[in-house]
Amino acid sequence: MSEPKRIVIVGAGLAGASAAAALRDNGYDGEIAVLGAEAHRPYELPPLSKRILLGQSDEPDWVRDADFYSGHDIDLRLGTGATRVELGARVVQDARGGRHSYDRLLLATGSQPRTLPVRGVDLPGVYSLRTLDDALALRSAFAGSPRVVVVGTGWIGTEAAAAARQQGAEVTMVDVLPGPLWVLGPEISEVFAGLHTEHGVQWRLGSGITELTGGPSGVTGVRLADGSELPADVVLVAVGAVPRVDLAHAAGLELADEGGVAVDASLRTSAPDVYAAGDIAAQWHPRYGRRVRVEHWANAKNQGAHVAANLAGGQEPYTRSPYFFTDQYDLGCEYRGLADPSRDELVVRGDLGKREFTAFWLREGQVTAAMNVNMWDDGDALQALVDGEAKVTPEQLRNSDLAALP
Ligand SMILES: Cc1cc2nc3c(=O)[nH]c(=O)nc-3n(C[C@H](O)[C@H](O)[C@H](O)COP(=O)(O)OP(=O)(O)OC[C@H]3O[C@@H](n4cnc5c(N)ncnc54)[C@H](O)[C@@H]3O)c2cc1C
Repeated sequence: MSEPKRIVIVGAGLAGASAAAALRDNGYDGEIAVLGAEAHRPYELPPLSKRILLGQSDEPDWVRDADFYSGHDIDLRLGTGATRVELGARVVQDARGGRHSYDRLLLATGSQPRTLPVRGVDLPGVYSLRTLDDALALRSAFAGSPRVVVVGTGWIGTEAAAAARQQGAEVTMVDVLPGPLWVLGPEISEVFAGLHTEHGVQWRLGSGITELTGGPSGVTGVRLADGSELPADVVLVAVGAVPRVDLAHAAGLELADEGGVAVDASLRTSAPDVYAAGDIAAQWHPRYGRRVRVEHWANAKNQGAHVAANLAGGQEPYTRSPYFFTDQYDLGCEYRGLADPSRDELVVRGDLGKREFTAFWLREGQVTAAMNVNMWDDGDALQALVDGEAKVTPEQLRNSDLAALP
């Protein structure tokens, strides 16, 4: 493939900005335009539910310094949402009436919070958390020890609950599932439940919500499926995210059954000149032999950097396994790989009770995922176990030197 003269990137988040930066790092000297719907220059989302909600900082981690984009001849258009992609004409239209022709296009539009289909979600005092502006607004709402109800006990719900508790709010977490972070299986869920309980979080688990009550002056409560009502001054709805695929869908690009834009191993969509990366990309992953869509920081950063070479004419498959991290109170953890706790065997090295352990998930003797909690010395060994194909036993994982395993 010859090198394109002009590349347009839609979405000025981590994946989009990483792609733009990597294009220049790789020596691409054609035109690059990046369209971003938000007013802020590209930033990373993880600090929003941690440092920023905790009041430790007003600024996120910027993907690059303010002068990087102009200094590298990248035409960064902020506050400029793309509204339409014309595949035939190879043009992106934006909300300000601009038309941007491209030889190659990258879609990196990320995700948006899933909404709850119940009455009262639009009341003042009801929040979701995706952007810097969301985080600053939620942080202000946490001031003055309010009663906070967090609906959803996934990563963002648990991190936000920790931040709210650390600022003196009364916090109740609600979920239809039996425990927080249930995606990791019951044993690990119990570790996080214990952590939050020790910090004073209250629970209403195994229960959906039917309504948010209140009036024009704000939310006052959360009605549960059993008819009871939890009083609330602030409600955070954190029930997951959905990939923003409307542009791709309207353009006629193939979507994946699992959600997201279908891309091949090289992150190319069903249109040969259009690629997708980050949260929206449902990639045919060579390691897993199936489509995988990952809503994690490292995936957005690494896919963005990787797809740059393919936008410029390469065809390299993206092969990295997923990586994720979280910080809640004094617990820090990393997760590598892709397990299915409903079918993989859980093996624990260390002490779940002390919250110092590494959890492994094993399938037919192979490590599908490893999660280190408050243990930081084995990162490379864990990555090698997740990425390798060697068979290991539960006994080896519990007691052997991990770096010496095959
Ligand atoms: C609060 C929070 C905390 C998180 N913490 C962690 C963590 O601890 N660890 C971890 O691994 N992951 C974490 N994540 C997930 C991780 O940050 C995301 O997976 C990652 O940011 C996805 O990057 P992206 O570039 O695909 O999408 P985004 O970062 O969402 O960027 C997409 C950008 O595209 C813009 N956009 C959308 N549509 C258009 C359009 N039509 N035109 C122009 N622009 C458009 C959006 O405004 C947005 O700025 C967290 C996410 C959130 C919300």
